[in-house]
Amino acid sequence: MAEAADLRVGGVQPFTSLDFPGRLAAVIFTQGCPLRCGYCHNPDLIAARRRTGLIPWADVEAHLHARRGLIDGVAFSGGEPLAQAALIPAIRQVRGMGFAIALHSAGTAPARLAAVLDDLDWVGLDIKAPFDAYEDVTGVAGSGDKARASLALLAASGVDYELRTTVWPDRIGAAELRAIARQIAPYAPPRWAVQEMRTPGANGRAVASPVFASAALWDELRAITPHCEPRRAH
Ligand code: SF4
Repeated sequence: MAEAADLRVGGVQPFTSLDFPGRLAAVIFTQGCPLRCGYCHNPDLIAARRRTGLIPWADVEAHLHARRGLIDGVAFSGGEPLAQAALIPAIRQVRGMGFAIALHSAGTAPARLAAVLDDLDWVGLDIKAPFDAYEDVTGVAGSGDKARASLALLAASGVDYELRTTVWPDRIGAAELRAIARQIAPYAPPRWAVQEMRTPGANGRAVASPVFASAALWDELRAITPHCEPRRAH
């Protein structure tokens, strides 16, 4: 059975006020992701294993102990945190230290999400494309079905969440956003952020898309899914 110490961590950001709404938080970036999105912003975190640069869990624990009183939340991001069985004991351990927990996920492992939902305070779930066209963005067959199942679990759970769609201009335009809006509307998401894509790396550039300039499109999307908002890169 996996233990927290088995969690492969590719990075830690000591402080964020952006990645966990309403909280001052640290971010733990887990290593490994089963998807291969054409615009991946964290390519160093895709491989399940890497030879250098992993941070031992004991160091993460020590860091969080030292931050108690300075931050009140911890966000698990990636990569895809749900790719590792050790995520669940790691989350429980961090929760036991008194931190609220956020999870950023691409919805690749609905069964594991179901197992950890009770330990979460907030989830940011990627909706990468219309569910029937997911493979065009992720490169992985069946990934849309898993994302849809993850959304269904989350919507029924009572855990606060937001959905996020990144506009990769090569694949996601107005037609795809309309299709996503129709497909997520039955779940009544509390927020759907449509994000401008960035080039990879810490100082990535915003990648322009005409969808952000069309007021008529946003009116149309909000008529289908009310809590929809554009999120420009800054
Ligand atoms: S889900 Fe995220 S980490 Fe995984 S390949 Fe896509 S963009 Fe990269």
